[in-house]
Amino acid sequence: MKVAVLKETRTGERRVALVPQGVQELVKAGLTVSVESGAGVRASVSDALYAEAGAEIAGSAAEALAGAEMVLRVNPPATEGTDEVAMMPEGVVLVSFLSPLTRPRLIQRLVERRVTAVSMEMVPRITRAQSMDALSSQATVAGYKAVLMAANHLPKFLPMFTTAAGTIRPGKVLVLGAGVAGLQAIATARRLGAVVEAFDVRPAVKEQVQSLGARFLEAEEEVTAEGEGGYAKELSEEQHEKELALIAGAIPEADIVITTAQIPGREAPVLITEEMVRSMRTGSVIVDLAAESGGNCVLTKAEETVTHEGVTILGPTNLPATIPVHASQMYSKNIVTLLREMLDGEGNLAFDFENDVIGPATVTHAGEIRNDRVKASLEGART
Ligand code: NAD
Repeated sequence: MKVAVLKETRTGERRVALVPQGVQELVKAGLTVSVESGAGVRASVSDALYAEAGAEIAGSAAEALAGAEMVLRVNPPATEGTDEVAMMPEGVVLVSFLSPLTRPRLIQRLVERRVTAVSMEMVPRITRAQSMDALSSQATVAGYKAVLMAANHLPKFLPMFTTAAGTIRPGKVLVLGAGVAGLQAIATARRLGAVVEAFDVRPAVKEQVQSLGARFLEAEEEVTAEGEGGYAKELSEEQHEKELALIAGAIPEADIVITTAQIPGREAPVLITEEMVRSMRTGSVIVDLAAESGGNCVLTKAEETVTHEGVTILGPTNLPATIPVHASQMYSKNIVTLLREMLDGEGNLAFDFENDVIGPATVTHAGEIRNDRVKASLEGART
């Protein structure tokens, strides 16, 4: 079976879906891997390294795709401008991030083209599938980088210093949303010597926050919204008000605020109001990792740096692309592990929709939408 690895076309993207280690593993499993020339350059992987690992180097995307039965990507194929779905062979297996709940046009095109689309976002967050969980691996990268970015913009130190020129007090970091990215942000801020506070609506997180040496903010009355599959759900209006009051009490002291709060398939909840931003000290920094889904801060603008009353608000939408070597290495590991679930002993496709990972992760197959949540979101988009 031929597998194509393409150069990512999203602006600013530097990751690649498969690194040479992954090529080696797939070739060993009996597959032919065709890598588009230059696909790994921005992640420090040359064509020569791919060739050494056993890949064929294709001169163009079209050449890599010719005769391919499977396509590996990081970002969803474009449907505007160049139609990247049309470029793929009909009936191909596509494994990629697809944002399937928010991209009805893409899902439609994949159905029309009879693509078997396996969405990295839909890999269930079960223990068995942890090594296939690209949401987690990439959120780890984003959480780490968010703190570095904030520290870089902060006109202060984060660690405490006791020097002949005086004592510097440690910086204070507030992390809102302590899922995978938030916990990594806490760990990174702690490594830089900051004093860290955090909040999440899932009570299970409290212990994890504390074990990283951070303080868990607690409201007088509990604010919780545990949803399905370990995710949060939307808070009631009353609970949301309580959460805002809790944050308003803590935010004036924070030098850095990292927000990561998301609810799958929904707009991100608003956690920071304009009034809260005004209550912060001049020079403070907010990094809003929910920028792409509307932002946790009302003033966030995706991909822009906003300065409001002396507070800098950053809304990066693709931080994993800024650490492309390790982000690609982790993504590649996730994808190779996932592929093993779809192959027989000879490296041929053996799709089993009863498989507890492949079943839920496959969003389209043979001209139909297979995933109920995706079907519902597409129907919602039509009405
Ligand atoms: P996410 O990106 O969807 O959300 C980030 C965080 O925001 C979550 O912790 C969520 O509770 C929080 N949040 C939502 N609304 C909020 C609000 N109003 N205020 C404060 N925080 C809010 O989540 P994620 O990081 O992708 O994953 C969340 C959880 O999924 C994990 O922590 C874990 O429990 C589960 N998970 C399980 C596995 C596994 O078992 N294999 C793997 C990864 C994640």
